[in-house]
Amino acid sequence: MVAASEASEASDVAAERHGHERLRRAVSDWGGWVALAAGAVLCVLGWYGVSGQSLTERQLPYLASATIPGAALIVAGAVLLARDGTGSGTAAGAAESRVEELYRLLTQDEEPVPTSAAPASAHLVAVPGGTMLHRADCPLVAGKPEAAEAPADEERLRPCPVCEPPAPEPER
Ligand SMILES: [Zn+2]
Repeated sequence: MVAASEASEASDVAAERHGHERLRRAVSDWGGWVALAAGAVLCVLGWYGVSGQSLTERQLPYLASATIPGAALIVAGAVLLARDGTGSGTAAGAAESRVEELYRLLTQDEEPVPTSAAPASAHLVAVPGGTMLHRADCPLVAGKPEAAEAPADEERLRPCPVCEPPAPEPER
């Protein structure tokens, strides 16, 4: 019963997050176009004002009040559109998947590692070129796909101080 209520809460959160995502995307999409249009208008007005003034001192206020913020608005609008328009499939998607991967890694780390699942002697691994022998579930080799099963009689490898694998059989 506890598990069921947790599951429904999780799906509620996911649906809510999806809705927020769509709303945010729509708002920033429109915001980008509005910023672009407003920036263009401000630039036109600014240059119109500048061209009507022959003295530099009189041109400066027009530049400061219209053209510069107008250019800033155009840049902001372009950034917004690039991020949510064409960029949604590449940059934003990559960032999102990176966040999801990070989340997955974090939640994986929170899971208790079943220490009794694997026979201790059968799952010792070592990184090629490394000097230490690890349990397969050692955090030091968790993110290393190149870590391979270590031969039990590998003598140059010393036991990792973090995961403390059983010492190789000293029978020979
Ligand atoms: Zn280790």
